[in-house]
Amino acid sequence: MQPTNIPIPSILEIGYELAFDLDRILAPYSFKKVVMYVDDYTNEHYRNKIKHSLQKIDLDLRRLSRPNNVLDLTNEAFQLNSPDVIIAMGGGAIIDCGKYMASIRKVPFVSIPTSPSNDGFSSSTCSLLVNGRKTTVPAHIPFGIIADLNIIKTAPTPFILSGIGDLMSNITALYDWEFESLTRNEQVNSFAAMISKKAVNSFVRTPMNDLKNPVFLKELISSLTMGGVSTAISGNTSPISGSEHLISHALDKILEKPKMHGIQVGLGAYIMAHVQNHRGERMRKVFSRTGFFDYVKSLRISKDQLSEAIHLSPEIKPDRHTFLHDEQYREKASTFVKEDVLLNEILI
Ligand SMILES: [Zn+2]
Repeated sequence: MQPTNIPIPSILEIGYELAFDLDRILAPYSFKKVVMYVDDYTNEHYRNKIKHSLQKIDLDLRRLSRPNNVLDLTNEAFQLNSPDVIIAMGGGAIIDCGKYMASIRKVPFVSIPTSPSNDGFSSSTCSLLVNGRKTTVPAHIPFGIIADLNIIKTAPTPFILSGIGDLMSNITALYDWEFESLTRNEQVNSFAAMISKKAVNSFVRTPMNDLKNPVFLKELISSLTMGGVSTAISGNTSPISGSEHLISHALDKILEKPKMHGIQVGLGAYIMAHVQNHRGERMRKVFSRTGFFDYVKSLRISKDQLSEAIHLSPEIKPDRHTFLHDEQYREKASTFVKEDVLLNEILI
């Protein structure tokens, strides 16, 4: 066992008017050259403001359109001319790309999410295509996280619902982790588990009647951030990713057009909370109040495909032992999908 040495972000700014105040935020770190990646949306809406906000540091602003192939990113990363820091601003995909490139170039990474759709902007892993398959690739925890609520509140509602789904999954993931530690030689890192649990518990107590309310968004972002950072403490994604994530990864393979990560994960979390017999009612309340279930209904996901995903899930991560790695709980999950009144209303 190694003694713990936890990397945590040096910059953590959650508030207003931050994304275009980069000269001030970065000033203490004496960076001379910054490479900043943006996606198409960010490029279109914010390119000029970004340029204007970085006057004191040499800026190489790059747009990446379809960027998530690991080989292309490696090529891109090694073409860069010795940046002191890599920044990515945009949705989850561009953040993952920047995080990966900063990690292989061994330079600090600053994450500026434009939506709260998942915990990737703060976690130590990224989801990239390896040999054409979506794969969780290890990277480093961001050196900086800058969440500008002025920008985040403009994110479409489904992106916010997706963030809620990804955060609520901490509940089922932690229960899986505990289960795993009882059934095989897997150690739960108590500190990582505590942070992940505190994050979601603080969130569920927040008023949820207005998803664009700044207090709500700040709570969502800071809780997702804590969840992300907990993965750096445990050295794996177990504090925030369990059986519900396996269902989502399986749906990515089965569905012709997979839905947003946090939406699939949230649906998985609702199912698994009932399978685990732990906080299913809380899950139902949060997803009903926020309109999460209404949105899922509009997606017309089929019960049969969901059952198929449940049965495929252990193969996604054969090295783990979540509830879904046990046949009896796969059956229980499948039966729940068939019989739960609420799921029968929102699925086809
Ligand atoms: Zn997730």
